[in-house]
Amino acid sequence: MIPVASERELRHAVAKWRGRGERIGFVPTMGALHAGHLSLVELARKHASRVVVSIFVNPTQFGPGEDFARYPRDVDGDAAKLAAAGCDLLFLPEVETIYPPGATTRVRVEGPSRGFEGDCRPGHFEGVATVVAGLFGLVRPDVAVFGEKDAQQLAVVRALVRDLHLAIEIVPGPIVREEDGLAMSSRNVYLGAPERRAATVLQRSLAAARAAVEAGERDPARLVDRLAAQIAAEPLAHLEYAAVVAADTFRPVERIAGDVVIPVAARFGSTRLLDNARLRVE
Ligand code: AMP
Repeated sequence: MIPVASERELRHAVAKWRGRGERIGFVPTMGALHAGHLSLVELARKHASRVVVSIFVNPTQFGPGEDFARYPRDVDGDAAKLAAAGCDLLFLPEVETIYPPGATTRVRVEGPSRGFEGDCRPGHFEGVATVVAGLFGLVRPDVAVFGEKDAQQLAVVRALVRDLHLAIEIVPGPIVREEDGLAMSSRNVYLGAPERRAATVLQRSLAAARAAVEAGERDPARLVDRLAAQIAAEPLAHLEYAAVVAADTFRPVERIAGDVVIPVAARFGSTRLLDNARLRVE
């Protein structure tokens, strides 16, 4: 695996592969890698002959007072995991490489950026869309893999690629969970033991919601009420939102049908966690 920091070295390595007719896969991350990230690398391997992974803690997607400064960082540990997972090139850009001096372009994706994370974290998706567009321009992948863990982000990236005609195949990776069901996240390390135990309520409430839909429930309001009540019964959980949305637009649905996502966000102490269930309802 080649570690690369500069745009020149990145472009050189990727151009060499492309010249040989290879297909380039890309997995953007913020590091502090866990098995969820590594599953995306393995998935990228199935869709491409070369896999590029970036680690970049993107300042523009963090709001004031968020955890940018204390976001977990472990580049050496990450590099070892990526080499073992079959990554060919690890891109570790500096802020100035992603945002050249004088950079004035910001990418705003309307539609799926609205509501939910877009409301709770103003400016977040503009930061995400801007960094993803920049990384796509640098790496120029044929295929990029994004986790369903961040379902709204996935919808934003799909809209970005469609609207800017980027000719990049977006492949979604299923959520990887801890043994007790908690969705893996670099932020789980912030949880104290009581919050860590309480956090499993997200997966339990989503599993119950999934079961209710499988048993025939089609009313999103009733489903969300039950889900919210289950989360409220956990004293350490503070629900921020729960809804049933169309997977592509992230707009709330009036009836549960088609490809839908049930996104939830809750705070456990000072730690915000996201989870969701994706359902295809005929
Ligand atoms: P991050 O490093 O948090 O920006 O995440 C990088 C990528 O990994 C994103 O596409 C996430 O959706 C994905 N990801 C994060 N956690 C998981 C997980 N538990 N399972 C699958 N993918 C994940």
